[in-house]
Amino acid sequence: MSQYFNVADIFGENVFSDKVMQDRLPKKIYKELHKTIDEGKELDPMVAEVVAEAMKQWAVEKGATHYTHWFQPLTGVTAEKHDSFITAPRADGTILMEFSGKELIKGEPDASSFPSGGLRATFEARGYTAWDCTSPAFVRQDAAGAILCIPTAFCSYTGEALDQKTPLLRSMQAINTQALRLLRLFGNTTSRKVTPSVGPEQEYFLVDAEKFLQRKDLIYTGRTLFGAMPPKGQELDDHYFGTIRQRIAAFMKDVNEELWKLGVSAKTQHNEVAPAQHELAPIYAEANVAVDHNQLVMQTLKRVACKHGMKCLLHEKPFAGVNGSGKHNNWSITTDDGINLLDPGKTPHDNIQFLLVLACILKAVDIHADLLRESAADPGNDHRLGANEAPPAIISVFLGEQLQDVMTQLISTGAATSSKAGGVLQTGVRTLPDLAKDATDRNRTSPFAFTGNKFEFRMVGSRDSIASPNIVLNTIVAEAFSEACDALEAADSFDEAVHDLIKKYLTEHQRIVFNGNGYSDEWVEEAQRRGLPNIKSMVDAIPTLTTEKAIKLFGKFGVFTEAELKSRVEIKYENYAKAINIEARTMIDMASKQIIPAVMKYTKSLADTVIAVKQAGVDAPVQTELLAESSDLLSDTKVALAKLIEVTDTAAAMEEGREQAVYYHDAVKAAMDELRTPVDKLEMIVDKDMWPMPSYGDLLFEV
Ligand code: ADP
Ligand code: MG
Repeated sequence: MSQYFNVADIFGENVFSDKVMQDRLPKKIYKELHKTIDEGKELDPMVAEVVAEAMKQWAVEKGATHYTHWFQPLTGVTAEKHDSFITAPRADGTILMEFSGKELIKGEPDASSFPSGGLRATFEARGYTAWDCTSPAFVRQDAAGAILCIPTAFCSYTGEALDQKTPLLRSMQAINTQALRLLRLFGNTTSRKVTPSVGPEQEYFLVDAEKFLQRKDLIYTGRTLFGAMPPKGQELDDHYFGTIRQRIAAFMKDVNEELWKLGVSAKTQHNEVAPAQHELAPIYAEANVAVDHNQLVMQTLKRVACKHGMKCLLHEKPFAGVNGSGKHNNWSITTDDGINLLDPGKTPHDNIQFLLVLACILKAVDIHADLLRESAADPGNDHRLGANEAPPAIISVFLGEQLQDVMTQLISTGAATSSKAGGVLQTGVRTLPDLAKDATDRNRTSPFAFTGNKFEFRMVGSRDSIASPNIVLNTIVAEAFSEACDALEAADSFDEAVHDLIKKYLTEHQRIVFNGNGYSDEWVEEAQRRGLPNIKSMVDAIPTLTTEKAIKLFGKFGVFTEAELKSRVEIKYENYAKAINIEARTMIDMASKQIIPAVMKYTKSLADTVIAVKQAGVDAPVQTELLAESSDLLSDTKVALAKLIEVTDTAAAMEEGREQAVYYHDAVKAAMDELRTPVDKLEMIVDKDMWPMPSYGDLLFEV
């Protein structure tokens, strides 16, 4: 392709899109398939057969040799097993390319090695993958050739979810049903489907590949485990939105091109706050597609970085001392005929509906703040949430001055009579100000902020799948809608009941609203006074999944059974323990084999110098002092290393489960910090040529 191209020409060219289906499928088949996609009708095997044939033909024309069911087990990444289209050679030695309806809709990967948290005993290892026809198939072209990728759900033989997609689809169904119920109460008879829309903003770091390969910590854990601060960090804010350098620009161009071909609407790109940090945001899509696309974004960033001699770090905290990376999850609820339920709207009638939706969301977030917090927990995110960095671990909602004002009036009088900037407002009589265009300050310190016509959940980790946060959001809001509908359906006067309900919810849940500085110490105290949970770590967040409240919530809407929740809890403890174990072992390896030997060389060269200088009849006070200082730090290092080895061995010998994970969190992480301290000090003393790995400065400023 030439260096310059028309995006419209390539956008979605590798997607088995609706347009392709329309062109290639018989009308009747296309219609039938759409009944499945739009209404969840069961797929007729005969329809699947025709679709499979068309899909294969299309993919083979794109050069595809293999197909794969592309799924998202609970490993945090996607999984795939490639099967070629070829059949056994015929008598004349030639082959055919085949792909049946059965192969399209169902796969049976040997699933025994994927995490199942006890849901699937190893002797019934088979899980199965099932085609998710609501997320389009695509052809991915890379070093492996061209592969037809079919997004699938992954379940055990008894139907339990072993993946991210299954509960996500279930939660979308839940919010669809409850939101439609609510809309009908407001007289809407036209909308047929309600879906959550999601736009995730992906942050990442880029480092030079050669330097990356000299750091075992980056290779094994995706973050630096040692490293002294460089003379310059992010204090000048000169990187944020700065001019994008040519090497990075060339990378971004390729990323965009690849994503566009895959139908991912990559939209914005810019430099982020920390040096070497960047962001990519697509245009929002249906939750399910957005989750799949975000996986493609992460994979594409990594693959394209390699092509450009760089490595893309998706870890939440690759470097201490500068900002980490997150993924703002923008979320709204939209009908198939284009109504955004989070849009304040232009008529009094719409406004009442909006205020009820808002009140329901406040209620949902207040009641289930713990679950939202948990949905953003992963080992890497522990370094951000609750650790002096954006955003705090306490969930609160930012509404902005204007909405806050409306809310206060509704609580005190039952009807808002005026609004701060937007002239006279009587809920149900006049209109709310246009909040989307409104210049309310954009609060960057809130974990859950209303931004005009959507909520922005800012806690999600950069490396994590966005499935969990959206599963929780969809389900808790479905619950609040359902309870509101129960009340409204039973009411004599709808208008009165709506007003009462809005006032009731706002009053009962106003404690979740906070418009101030979420990073301040005062807020931590204030939140405690309000009784809001402050869950500081992943191990503390995990138990929220199996509280009575959570089991009831997820059970009621068929999103997770109790057994599924318990299995997820097990998997999470296991994943946490494994992640910390790898980090600890990597530190042990680096300290023993690289850092201590380097410091010994350095102290030896100092000692040699001291002797030589003294032999020349001169005192060597500086050399002697440096020798004493580095020898002291070296012995601190050795002591801390021994301690880390001891606690890591103890942890590894424990039985898997909560106790082990807690021990990794309390004892092993603490021992890791203790080892890091003397080593980072040594890095500032030892001759740069002798230090066995690139420094923070090398990594962050020389990309
Ligand atoms: P920011 O200024 O915080 O970067 P943007 O306006 O650029 O925010 O939007 C960030 C993300 O939010 C994008 O992915 C965008 O597509 C998405 N977004 C915009 N409107 C909506 C909406 N109604 N629902 C869900 N996501 C949305
Ligand atoms: Mg944003």
